[in-house]
Amino acid sequence: MNIVVLIKQVPEIALIKVDEDANQVVLPQGPGTVNPFDEYAVEEALKLKEQHSGTTSVISVGTDRTESALRNCLALGVDNAYLLCDDAFEGSDPQAIGKILAAGLKKIGDYDLIFAGKQAIDSDSAQVPGAVAANLDIPQAMFVKKVESVDNGTAVVHRTTEEGYDVVELKCPAVISVVKEINEPRLPSLKGKMGAKKKQITKWSAADLGLDGNGIGSNSATKTAKVTPPPARPKGEIIEGETPEEVADKLFNKLRDNQVI
Ligand SMILES: Cc1cc2nc3c(=O)[nH]c(=O)nc-3n(C[C@H](O)[C@H](O)[C@H](O)COP(=O)(O)OP(=O)(O)OC[C@H]3O[C@@H](n4cnc5c(N)ncnc54)[C@H](O)[C@@H]3O)c2cc1C
Repeated sequence: MNIVVLIKQVPEIALIKVDEDANQVVLPQGPGTVNPFDEYAVEEALKLKEQHSGTTSVISVGTDRTESALRNCLALGVDNAYLLCDDAFEGSDPQAIGKILAAGLKKIGDYDLIFAGKQAIDSDSAQVPGAVAANLDIPQAMFVKKVESVDNGTAVVHRTTEEGYDVVELKCPAVISVVKEINEPRLPSLKGKMGAKKKQITKWSAADLGLDGNGIGSNSATKTAKVTPPPARPKGEIIEGETPEEVADKLFNKLRDNQVI
């Protein structure tokens, strides 16, 4: 079974700033990290490979800095890494990212399942996995908390809903986005980290993928109209008292007066 995982490199959230004058989000320039939900997707891919054999790959639309996120995945035991990287991708909205990833997946060609995180922790749109499935015209199940089985070209998964979960049967190849409940991601070994440094990362440009700029980059269908930072939090209040009991009483009265309890 061949599995490809969609990986987004995300910045340290606490360091993200908003430049209202330039109408853009300013991302920190550090190496960033693998989107936390994608770590669960990688773990599920590795577990399935251990059960069924085959290969695991990771693919990302990013910049040269994204190599470090891909190497983190190689250190965990992933076999192959692909970086889709081109100035023409700059300004891509989530649908465009889906189109670029689908072009990369078509070039890889031989896959049974595509795993992704349920959402990225920076842009949060939860659109990319669905956009990939739409561009490849294959089935999808989002917010999956369990892969029950993968046999004879059919995957059975538990898809989280507001009421509980649905059991969904998918014909492979299919796209599956995962939630944290699905597994406990492993940590890389020292040997894995050392080995990952030497592994090759395949880089493809827009030309390599046969993309002519239509619907991607600055030709994305959506434009950002306005970016504003979240409102500052009101200052907290420290409740003083001679004894813990007195502080607790004051806190209780405050919560009751404000109809919190
Ligand atoms: C008009 C517009 C312009 C933009 N311009 C830029 C820009 O210039 N530079 C920029 O960095 N961002 C830009 N963005 C943001 C960018 O479109 C999103 O970060 C990106 O599409 C992913 O969306 P998301 O973060 O909401 O991912 P989600 O859809 O929430 O991610 C869900 C899952 O999809 C997969 N995934 C998401 N993104 C990627 C990826 N890049 N590679 C592989 N897998 C992925 C991961 O598995 C992830 O867990 C722009 C957005 C808009 C609307």
